[in-house]
Amino acid sequence: MATSLDIAHKQAAAALPGRVNLLGLTREELGQALAEFGLPKREIRMRTGQLWNAIYNRGQTDFAEMTTLSKELRAKLGAAFTVARPEIVTEQKSVDGTRKWLLRLASDKPGMPGPEVEAVYIPEEGRGTLCISSQVGCTLTCTFCHTGTQKLVRNLTAGEIVGQLLVARDALGDWPGSGRNSDDRLVTNIVMMGMGEPLYNFDNVRDALDIVSDGEGLSLSKRRITLSTSGVVPMIERAGNEIGSMLAISLHGVTDEVRDKLVPLNKKYPIAELLEACRNYPGVSNARRITFEYVMLKGVNDSLADAKELVRLLSGIPAKINLIPFNPWPGSPYECSDWATIEKFADVVNRAGYASPVRTPRGRDIMAACGQLKSETVKARASERFKTPADAPAQTL
Ligand code: SAH
Ligand code: SF4
Repeated sequence: MATSLDIAHKQAAAALPGRVNLLGLTREELGQALAEFGLPKREIRMRTGQLWNAIYNRGQTDFAEMTTLSKELRAKLGAAFTVARPEIVTEQKSVDGTRKWLLRLASDKPGMPGPEVEAVYIPEEGRGTLCISSQVGCTLTCTFCHTGTQKLVRNLTAGEIVGQLLVARDALGDWPGSGRNSDDRLVTNIVMMGMGEPLYNFDNVRDALDIVSDGEGLSLSKRRITLSTSGVVPMIERAGNEIGSMLAISLHGVTDEVRDKLVPLNKKYPIAELLEACRNYPGVSNARRITFEYVMLKGVNDSLADAKELVRLLSGIPAKINLIPFNPWPGSPYECSDWATIEKFADVVNRAGYASPVRTPRGRDIMAACGQLKSETVKARASERFKTPADAPAQTL
């Protein structure tokens, strides 16, 4: 079968010939892939449902295991498609139970290893949060963030974003049938707070989160998914309308002068514009508050005047405030505020009516805490990745 399928953007290894990866296709695209593969029209809906269930509800990775399909169909699908996930390169376990995986994505060029990203699992009382990445590296250069020192290599595909959850469930034994009852999952929440700026990879993040929240698959509700942005103002309204997850804003500074230095994107979208976009975030309410993240940097943004200004700026916005002790990384130009300073800052915020837990850093010993993620992958020159423009992404079945 040699029909072409318009899902090239979904394929990381688009330059590679071979089987098409079905991970990360929306239901519609999955149906389209099956139709182009040659399944009769009347079967598409049912087969899409069966595959969806096998991939996302059961976590199956091999078509041969999908016994709801006939043996013949399993073999044919297996020859044309894969559901390959990112590969675990290393796993590290923190003394506090946090686990960090270095994951290798599909290669962009034959003979070259695929780029790498990190994902982190943080178990807590009664819940477990998976922190996932949206990009390899980041185009933004927040001065307190380790990822910001790694140039953008590429966006993750929707399949690679969903794949991080699948891999975590594999590693944790978190699929149905693993002994626990069905609503007793280990990964209960997702935060898009790993490597990269999710609103700079909008379509893939949106499709991935739709898949993650699909009730017949992974079933994690959008209320349990938080997307964190450094403040890409023009995309915030779309995020509310098209993604509908909880929103977190990396604020970190209360004057443009300070925030310009910490989050250079502030020069493009200053605080007033950012907060206006938050006020207008579709679906925001007291029951669905926006989280404002504020990293505590000694002598930079941690004075009592800063705390008071923070409260003033956020008045009228349904907000939560997360004070994050700065997590150092090799060569980082800042220090974490003293504990007493953080407590005084938190007092001002609490007295203003915000229950603002100071987020205890998790997984610091394995460099898995907020802002410590980075992989060794560097951007190969385009000429190394694609021999000719004709090799660039285009997928045929
Ligand atoms: N790019 C997005 C999401 C990834 S960063 C964003 O910036 O929001 C996830 C969170 O970790 C952000 O709030 C970020 O500001 C914070 N962070 C980055 N570096 C940190 C560090 N060294 N210590 C503590 N938090 C950090
Ligand atoms: Fe990128 Fe977020 Fe790090 Fe800023 S804080 S460099 S936006 S990952």
